[in-house]
Amino acid sequence: MTGSVVHDLEASGRGFRAVVLADGTERMNPPSAAVYGEPADGCLVRIHSRCLYGEVFESTNCDCRWQLRQSLRIIRRRGGVLVYLDQEGRGAGLLAKAEGYRLSQEQGLDTFASYSALGYKADSRSYADAAALLKQLGLSAVQLLTNNPAKVSALEVAGIKAEMRQLVQRKPSNETLKYLTAKETYGHAILSGERPA
Ligand SMILES: [Zn+2]
Repeated sequence: MTGSVVHDLEASGRGFRAVVLADGTERMNPPSAAVYGEPADGCLVRIHSRCLYGEVFESTNCDCRWQLRQSLRIIRRRGGVLVYLDQEGRGAGLLAKAEGYRLSQEQGLDTFASYSALGYKADSRSYADAAALLKQLGLSAVQLLTNNPAKVSALEVAGIKAEMRQLVQRKPSNETLKYLTAKETYGHAILSGERPA
C-alpha cells in the first residue's frame, strides 16, 4: 500500500504543501512534490529531475535551474504541482554525469554523445513514480510544463492525460544554448516553441 507524508511549508510569503511519497521501498530520497492550491484536473504540473550542477552549483551549462525557477514562478502564481525526482544525470547518477562532462570537454562532444560513448543510455529517467504521486493527489489530467515530448508520453502511458506547455528561455547564455541545441537534436522541443501563457 502506497501513501505519502504531507505537511505545510512556506516560500516567498506563500504557503504550500510538501508531499513525500512513502511507497515502502525505503529509498533515501523518494519522489516528492510542492503543491500550491488545491490540485485539480487540468492544473499545471512540472516534473523536475535533480541537477546538482544547475540547481546548487548554479552552473549555466544546462538549463535545469532556469526551468525549475520558471516553473515554480508559474505554479506559485497559478496553482499547481512541482514534482521533484532524485534522478541525477538523466537517471544515470552523478558520477556518470561527471564522466560525461569530462569527455564532452576533452573531445568536444555534446553530453548525449558522451553518454553514448561511455555506454550509458542517453536518458534513463522514469516517470512512473511521478505518475503515482500525481494519482495520489487525485489527478488524471495535467498541463505539463516541459519541452520534452517523452515526458508527456510517459505520463500518458501511466494513465495520466498530459498536455505540453513549453518553457522557452528567451536569452540563454552561450553554454546553455549549446546544451539546448543538443537537447533539441535529441527530441526536445526547445528553440522554436510557444511560450507558456
Ligand atoms: Zn542540469
